[in-house]
Amino acid sequence: MESWNEKCAVVGVFNSERSAALCYYSLFAMQHRGQESSGISTSNGCDISTIKGEGLVTSVFKNGIENLVGKASIGHNRYSTAGEDSKCDVQPISARYSLGQIAIAHNGNLVNAKELRDNLISKGAIFQSYLDTENLIHLIAQSKAAKLKDRIIEALGIIKGAYSFVFLSRGKLFAIRDPFGFRPLSLGEIINDDGSKGYIVASETCAFDLINAKYIRDINPGEMLIFSIKDNEVLIDSIEVFKQEPKKCIFEFVYFSRPDSFVFNKCVYEVRKNMGIELAKEYKIKADLVIPVPDSGVISAIGYSQESKIPFELGIVRNHYIGRTFIEPTQSMRELKVKLKLNPIKEIIQNKDIIVIDDSIVRGTTSKQIISILRKVGAKKIHLIIASPQTISPCYYGVDTPNTSELISSKKNIEEVREFIDADSLYFLSLEGLYKSIGDEAKNGIGYCKACFDKEYVI
Ligand code: SF4
Repeated sequence: MESWNEKCAVVGVFNSERSAALCYYSLFAMQHRGQESSGISTSNGCDISTIKGEGLVTSVFKNGIENLVGKASIGHNRYSTAGEDSKCDVQPISARYSLGQIAIAHNGNLVNAKELRDNLISKGAIFQSYLDTENLIHLIAQSKAAKLKDRIIEALGIIKGAYSFVFLSRGKLFAIRDPFGFRPLSLGEIINDDGSKGYIVASETCAFDLINAKYIRDINPGEMLIFSIKDNEVLIDSIEVFKQEPKKCIFEFVYFSRPDSFVFNKCVYEVRKNMGIELAKEYKIKADLVIPVPDSGVISAIGYSQESKIPFELGIVRNHYIGRTFIEPTQSMRELKVKLKLNPIKEIIQNKDIIVIDDSIVRGTTSKQIISILRKVGAKKIHLIIASPQTISPCYYGVDTPNTSELISSKKNIEEVREFIDADSLYFLSLEGLYKSIGDEAKNGIGYCKACFDKEYVI
């Protein structure tokens, strides 16, 4: 693993004849958050139907979505942070229980999943998957409460961790964000062809743009929204299930989210550019060019270049189509792995002192190889500047990260990392610089999780 890997994406659409199609386009827009599998469940008011499978959105739904008929749908793109990378772990998962039928999709990670699962199995529960999400289905099925809403609230009181959930029953859609609001979830409005209103909830607002939905607001940490129909009008009930200070994932700004999304009510592009501006204020250095590692370093490099007045060049070109290319496991072939993806332009780099901007360093091996290929095309000096603080600890809240021992910054100081990757200088954005990039509300990091930078785990 050479990067922090995206988590999952969830979407829910309510009161649209095109609910499954709108989910499909939304999942397509959020493909960057998970590429292993995809699925959509749709309710026609009597039954819930599901199409799901392994692969990208376009391949899972290559035969169309004609079988998904109904005015309410939920969808999911999966990157496995819990469970196995297997067919039975593809979401949404659905079940029949005493109150009817439900389907659920989850972005996040439950930290007490194993304990819950062992407990449920000891009481006779039979699990169909390795998903932490399946615990919730069992907790809901075993509850004695008369209404699904109360069963969900009861289950939320038992689970611990990071989650943005969408639930579909035959007649309602539920959207829930965990008490700390680790993972994003936004609410948007859809105007249907007949002029009626529908609603969408999605992990990122780039999904709204594709289907012409209007962003309304973020779902609050600890809030549950319940969408239902009464007298042909959509009712939206908001319940504050938990109330405490949020801990939104600050890494959404560093890497995960698409730059054209609004996340936690902030434009990701602007925050990422501000990181480059803050870097240029914190670390002033002479060089001929600012070059990003594409795509993750591009926007911060623009900010650094504008603030420092050092010219920006796209000196490294990325091949977007490598997929799961087979790489022979020899040392020289490891360099090939980087070169398959990133190719430096000799005519731009040769005989230049360059500043290279990237979003983060995980193991350090990719940075080392990038610097090596830049030296081979004649870079004179290479200053690597990272648009986030040192990542010293893993994430337990729905992000796929290596173990602590594999994170280079967990065991080496900055000078030792610089020596390992063979850069002429190395600088990481300070946490204060990251807060400034986000804006006033993030002063001193209040309201944000940053445990992978400072080990302050809230749960
Ligand atoms: S530990 Fe890091 S990646 Fe995980 S939720 Fe916190 S800030 Fe985000």
